[in-house]
Amino acid sequence: MPLVVVGSVALDSIETPTSKRENVLGGSAVYFSYAASYFTPVRLVGAVGEDWPAEYTRLFQQRGIDTQGLQIIPGGKTFRWRGRYLADMNKRETVEVHLNVFEQFDPVLPDDCRRAKFLFLANGPVTMQLKAMEQCTGAELIVADTMDLWINTQRKELENLLARIDGLVMNDSEARLLTGDENLVRAGHKIRDMGPRFVVIKKGEHGAMFFSKHETYVLPAYPTPDVVDPTGAGDSFAGGMMGYLAMRGAFDPKTLKEAMAYGILVASFTVEDFSLDRLLKIRREDLEQRMDEYKRMLSF
Ligand code: AMP
Repeated sequence: MPLVVVGSVALDSIETPTSKRENVLGGSAVYFSYAASYFTPVRLVGAVGEDWPAEYTRLFQQRGIDTQGLQIIPGGKTFRWRGRYLADMNKRETVEVHLNVFEQFDPVLPDDCRRAKFLFLANGPVTMQLKAMEQCTGAELIVADTMDLWINTQRKELENLLARIDGLVMNDSEARLLTGDENLVRAGHKIRDMGPRFVVIKKGEHGAMFFSKHETYVLPAYPTPDVVDPTGAGDSFAGGMMGYLAMRGAFDPKTLKEAMAYGILVASFTVEDFSLDRLLKIRREDLEQRMDEYKRMLSF
């Protein structure tokens, strides 16, 4: 079943302790779309400026990612983000954010997108997420992500959003920021009390925690030794998870757990190189092979 994502489409500049890249393809909706495209057709909704390289749009199209909802804003500049990783690659600082066309982005969902049953509101202004959600009237599963910038600047809108979505996916530090609770198990349930039926807290190299009314569990990350650039891991996790759910056309507890595992595995590939470089080289079979190893790792 088709899956719609609304979020940032970016040119990222990244510094790790050993290497750096300037203006590479990034953005929450980009990592999400590519990760989800292993499982299901994806429709990408976002905005870029005139500086956007057309080859990136072609890359999406070759991958079966529909770009009808990708607006090119005349005279505008693409969202740019600069991040730096510390020696402990779980820690990163945002050095610069230029929202550019993303600041005033008014998502207009093409008709196909409005009818989609699966909707993901990737990281971006909560006002944008609300506008997109209101157009997608047929959605059966709406899941969102958010981060510190939006928790700090659009708190009221976020509370409104939380009351209307089915699931929320966010980082551990952001779950603490949102709830003021250092204990992630309590934080997960507190966020659930704000509205979503399920909450996923991503913990970087420590995997992800799942919270619903009846279940609380943790899945470990796949232990890859080749961490080159963690950027996009969270968005790829969400893309793998939602892509699998949309492919199955279901979101019962068993399917959700399998979807979490696929999300973790796609993310484990994303971090093995900068930007989409690693994902561009792997196929669904590589994911399945890693899934076999992951299952063996978890059985005792
Ligand atoms: P992740 O590493 O999964 O948290 O996602 C990193 C991606 O999010 C990068 O490619 C950035 O371009 C994008 N990003 C960074 N800050 C923001 C923000 N405030 N809103 C939306 N996207 C962002």
